[in-house]
Amino acid sequence: MIQPTLVLIKPDGLKKSLTGNILTRLSETKLEIVAAKMAKVTKDLAVKHYEHLKGKPFFDELIRYLMGELHDRKKVLAMVYWGEDAIQKVRELAGATNPEEANPVSIRGQYGRITTKGVYENAIHASTNDIEAEREIKLWFEPDEIILDLYPSKKATITSVEKRVWA
Ligand code: UDP
Ligand code: MG
Repeated sequence: MIQPTLVLIKPDGLKKSLTGNILTRLSETKLEIVAAKMAKVTKDLAVKHYEHLKGKPFFDELIRYLMGELHDRKKVLAMVYWGEDAIQKVRELAGATNPEEANPVSIRGQYGRITTKGVYENAIHASTNDIEAEREIKLWFEPDEIILDLYPSKKATITSVEKRVWA
């Protein structure tokens, strides 16, 4: 099945200068990148991204991790990869959630670690299934930031929105 998947290079991946290595690994999949940006991660965005983990003992630390507060890198590289079996291909390259259990040659096996507070710093996020991919892609990207029309969108006239423009 041809499908999109959300990939994030998390703040530990950025801090460790792993962006190039991780992108090289991901290129083994031959998938297409159809969206990419550096994104600041607000608390609201981090909490929404990990809403399925609310209530876990590591949740607050996980939010701090995704926001970059543990790595002095308050951003992530957010991307949408697209192609045949994209979700499974990227998950396989990423490896298991727990870096100690991940295949040693997977991205998480190679680059991940468990902090003393018990959070898995595993360098990369990858969507788990179609429903999660759609939810996550819509959370991180607007329709015009994606090269393909992945999901139905509509035109909306937005008035009195305050945003920064070049001075
Ligand atoms: N996580 C953690 N401890 C756990 C489970 C998850 O620190 O016991 C962190 C880890 O960074 C993981 C993220 O929370 O990538 C999201 O967890 P999920 O279960 O969705 O795993 P993933 O889909 O990232 O493999
Ligand atoms: Mg997940």
